[in-house]
Amino acid sequence: MVESGQPSLEFVCPRCGVSITETIEEVPSYDVLADRESGAQGYAEQSVTCPGCDQKFAVDITNTGACLLADLGNENIHVSVIDDPINAPEDSWEVEAYQRENLPTDPWGNPYQYRDEPAGECARLDAQHAQ
Ligand SMILES: [Zn+2]
Repeated sequence: MVESGQPSLEFVCPRCGVSITETIEEVPSYDVLADRESGAQGYAEQSVTCPGCDQKFAVDITNTGACLLADLGNENIHVSVIDDPINAPEDSWEVEAYQRENLPTDPWGNPYQYRDEPAGECARLDAQHAQ
């Protein structure tokens, strides 16, 4: 059972082909104070049971700071993260407030040009993951 808007995992069971969706119980935190990028990434592991064949899977969840990546250990299966809270756009009212505060007096312009980069990086990592 997955509540709408909750970060969740989605993948297809390699044994029975059932599409499995599971709410992420623990979103790993990204340590912004860590010295090195590798030390800053957060990890969590979650056990997911297939509703079709009762196969148990250990899913590794990584917070890269830009997005969540999920990985099924040694299984060659791509796990999607739905409603990623790290990579999610901010609420629209916050964006509008940001625009009102910054755009009229900011000659450097577009606050969105930087926002695109983590998401793009995330998509690239995600694509690598899928291979
Ligand atoms: Zn299954």
